[in-house]
Amino acid sequence: MLSPEKLIMKSERTRSQEKVFRVLNSLNQAISAQDLYIELKKRNQTVGLATVYRALEALKREGVVQVRTLASGESLYSSNQADQHHLTCLNCGNSIIIDQCPVHTLEKKLENNHNFKIYYHTLEFFGLCNHCQLTVNQ
Ligand SMILES: [Zn+2]
Ligand SMILES: [Zn+2]
Repeated sequence: MLSPEKLIMKSERTRSQEKVFRVLNSLNQAISAQDLYIELKKRNQTVGLATVYRALEALKREGVVQVRTLASGESLYSSNQADQHHLTCLNCGNSIIIDQCPVHTLEKKLENNHNFKIYYHTLEFFGLCNHCQLTVNQ
C-alpha cells in the first residue's frame, strides 16, 4: 500500500524527471550526469544538462536513484535496484563489486533502533588492487 506522501511525490514528478529516470533505469550500470545527458540525446529524449542534474537530485531525494562519488570526484548515478558494495583501488580507480551484503542485519537493526526508513546503502573499501600493490611498491 502506498502512503499518501508517496502518492504526492509520484504525481509531482515532472516530465524531464520521468525521462531521466526511464533512461537511467534501462541502463545496467552507474553513469555520470554528463553521460546520461548524452544517452538521453541519443534516444531523442533531449533534456538540458542543468535539468538532468536537477532531475537526478529530485529522484535521489525520492529514494529511487543512488549516487556514488568516485575517488576522482566524479559522481555516478544509478537507479536504486540494489545496494552497492565495492572494493576500490586508489591507484588505478578500478572497482570490484562485492556480491554478498556484509551489513544486511545491521541495516535492519538501524531501521528499528532509529525508526529510520532506509532506502539503500553503499559500502566501499579503499586500498590497492592486486595489480597496483606490485607496481606501487617497486
Ligand atoms: Zn589498482
Ligand atoms: Zn548491503
